[in-house]
Amino acid sequence: MLDTSSPPVWRLALPLPLPRLFDYLPPPGDDASAADVGVRVRVPFGSRELVGVVVEVGPAEGDAPELRHALARLDPDPVLQGELLESLHWLARYTHAPLGEVLATALPAALRRGEPLPDTHAWAWQLTEGGQTARERLRDGRPRRLADHLLAGPLDEDRLDLAFEDWRSAARALAKRGLAERVAVPAVAHAPMPQPGPQLNAEQQAAVEAVHASREGFAALLLDGVTGSGKTEVYLHAIADCLARGRQALVLVPEIGLTPQTLARFRARLGVPVHVLHSALGDGERARTWAAFARGEARVVVGTRSAVFLPLPDAGLIVVDEEHDGSFKQLDGIRYHARDFALVRGKALGVPVLLGSATPSLESLRNAQAGRYAHLRLQQRAGDAQPPAVRICDVRKRPLEAGLSPEMLDTIGHALDADGQVLVFKNRRGYAPVLLCHDCGWSAQCQRCDAPMTVHAGGRRLQCHHCGARGPVPNACPDCGGLALQPQGAGTERIEETLTARFPDVPVLRIDRGTTQRRDALEQALAKFGTQRGILVGTQMLAKGHDLPNLTLVAVVGVDEGLFSADFRAPEKLAQLLIQVAGRAGRAQRAGEVLLQTHHPGHPLLTTLLSGGYHAFADEELAQRELAGFPPFAHMAMFRAEAKDVAACDAFLRVVREALRALNAPLDVHGPLPAPMPRRAGFQRMQLLLSAADRRSLHASLDATLPAIYGAPEARRVRWSLDVDPVDL
Ligand code: ADP
Ligand code: ZN
Ligand code: ZN
Repeated sequence: MLDTSSPPVWRLALPLPLPRLFDYLPPPGDDASAADVGVRVRVPFGSRELVGVVVEVGPAEGDAPELRHALARLDPDPVLQGELLESLHWLARYTHAPLGEVLATALPAALRRGEPLPDTHAWAWQLTEGGQTARERLRDGRPRRLADHLLAGPLDEDRLDLAFEDWRSAARALAKRGLAERVAVPAVAHAPMPQPGPQLNAEQQAAVEAVHASREGFAALLLDGVTGSGKTEVYLHAIADCLARGRQALVLVPEIGLTPQTLARFRARLGVPVHVLHSALGDGERARTWAAFARGEARVVVGTRSAVFLPLPDAGLIVVDEEHDGSFKQLDGIRYHARDFALVRGKALGVPVLLGSATPSLESLRNAQAGRYAHLRLQQRAGDAQPPAVRICDVRKRPLEAGLSPEMLDTIGHALDADGQVLVFKNRRGYAPVLLCHDCGWSAQCQRCDAPMTVHAGGRRLQCHHCGARGPVPNACPDCGGLALQPQGAGTERIEETLTARFPDVPVLRIDRGTTQRRDALEQALAKFGTQRGILVGTQMLAKGHDLPNLTLVAVVGVDEGLFSADFRAPEKLAQLLIQVAGRAGRAQRAGEVLLQTHHPGHPLLTTLLSGGYHAFADEELAQRELAGFPPFAHMAMFRAEAKDVAACDAFLRVVREALRALNAPLDVHGPLPAPMPRRAGFQRMQLLLSAADRRSLHASLDATLPAIYGAPEARRVRWSLDVDPVDL
């Protein structure tokens, strides 16, 4: 029989938008074996080269002689294995995305490109044999002192940095004479001695005990605690316990929550090196952290969304801070939700997953109510801090100055008189959201998007926040030639201008993506601002994260924009944002005050939030979602299509719709409909929304139809994507 003699081939996941695996023969002289699963290989693909991952080894499907040879095996041992590889298989099935793209998303960029798994050794210096004997003959000086230092044995460069000023030049001098050498040593954990934290209060203690009680297996715990209630203290205790048992801990935080203050707190308290992973790190560093976790050397990481893909061979605990935060969902490529994937991994790893928030997502609250998550409540602010007093400021018929009412300006003045710090929150950057001709009604629209241009630079420039298009503000109206062009409404820039004029003797600092592109710029600006009396004007970059202990007034401007939105999640997002921003006030010794300025003081969202807090709001909102058949009481998926030609989008989504309808499954299909922004960056955009009461029928329907959808000729005329559990409708 010919078959038995045909050698096994590698079945590869390649980073291609095709839902299948690809067979390759190993390079000539190499053999495929079952132990290769998880190894990266480089292969020819058309005229290109790709890096893929071996996911199966077996007999060739189809005509073996047609198969090409891989060019190179890139790893001696699998880089993806065990729980992580299995969980990624799950993620590919759940997102209905090609496995190759999922694996490529999970790997750090350097590994995705095929670079070797980096060394995670530390470097140390030691005396050579010659150095041992020649040391005594060295003249006094830095090289001699370094040599004396090294006499006791090799020293890590980390240690030398701490102990010995300018040791590098001394080491070079010794090395040049063959007296000392640089050697790789296993990385040893150097960290400051852990500092004790505050004595936990009863609620915190109960939460810590609940985590301890479930540490032997998987459990989901929702730590539902008001802002400033000491959730981070609970994490720190749970992590310390995890480390004491020799296990690894993964802490996920939102993009804007990963501040030096947060990191410093973890580092000071844990007594082991705390790794950090976020999008601003270089590729090399990301790959090294990944390798250090894969080898079990690293113990704790605090990271943003993509840290959920770190290998955790000795996992003991996963923490997701601010679990409701939108930044955990990736909105392009593989559309995963880091919190949800963290739960999947926790289950596969058999470790507890602790989700924390002052404003839990309705999904998590529902899971807690249904008994699927343990519900741990922290209802008091920790220490002496008092909850802030929240007031509504009715601005109907009031004269507004850059959107600020006289009452608002007075309250700001009083807070400053009392030596306080004020945060004016407006979730809109730029000078004004619209440029309008007062004579004819023309407004500046982006040429490539269905969106107005935002006015910037004090009214001199126009910028599209969706595609980045820029231009000068015209001198006259392009339609009527009139000179009555007026910026309408106010963004952070205009508010800053108004406040600077009104309060000339205090500093006004604006924080938004316009002023602080870079993470460290934000840190520096805030550090310089310090705790002095003054005004911060900012977007949601300031809604959380940084501790602002002297903040006594939070003034929220522009609540109304969020009150009337077509997205069924808009009320949830607005309520979360308001509570989070309000939580910034009065975090330390000084009492805080929050002022919400609105034209709709009687809006049920605001009145419920004010009288009953977030949980009263959440209960009502959940009841409405249940009535309307929205998540978490239904499961959704969204097909999106974009093309220059709207007919192509429509045609493709109709193919999808008909394929799904033909199944006669218990599934609602809405659309095709124009996307909320029907044209962006020159592309027409449409969408098709699927909704099912039962998660399984949604996934079964997608499984049954996707092969035909991939193969449809209409699919080639659009850019399309599928988003399971979409968060932006
Ligand atoms: P959260 O994460 O819930 O916003 P934090 O853990 O940051 O709250 O705690 C808020 C503040 O209260 C911090 O300054 C923290 O050091 C302090 N704190 C936390 N727990 C206690 C406690 N049990 N006693 C005194 N102070 C505490
Ligand atoms: Zn005009
Ligand atoms: Zn645009």
